Amino acid sequence: MQLDRPTDPIDLATEQETMSRDASIAAVRRSLVGESRKSCVACDEPIDEMRRALGGVTRCLDCQKWAELKAKRAKR
Ligand SMILES: [Zn+2]
Repeated sequence: MQLDRPTDPIDLATEQETMSRDASIAAVRRSLVGESRKSCVACDEPIDEMRRALGGVTRCLDCQKWAELKAKRAKR
């Protein structure tokens, strides 16, 4: 087995495929759940860019936590 050979072209192709697959998953997700809101529906605070990238985000992190907490309590 040669250790000094250049980067395996198959590894490179797989990496590129994984990246484009991730991008298309994000695109499909956005088409299903819709674009994220710029501000929270509950408190009107701006929603974090990182959260908005998920798609379909309607609440800020705090309000989302509360909503999930309420949903959990309602189940019991
Ligand atoms: Zn909020």
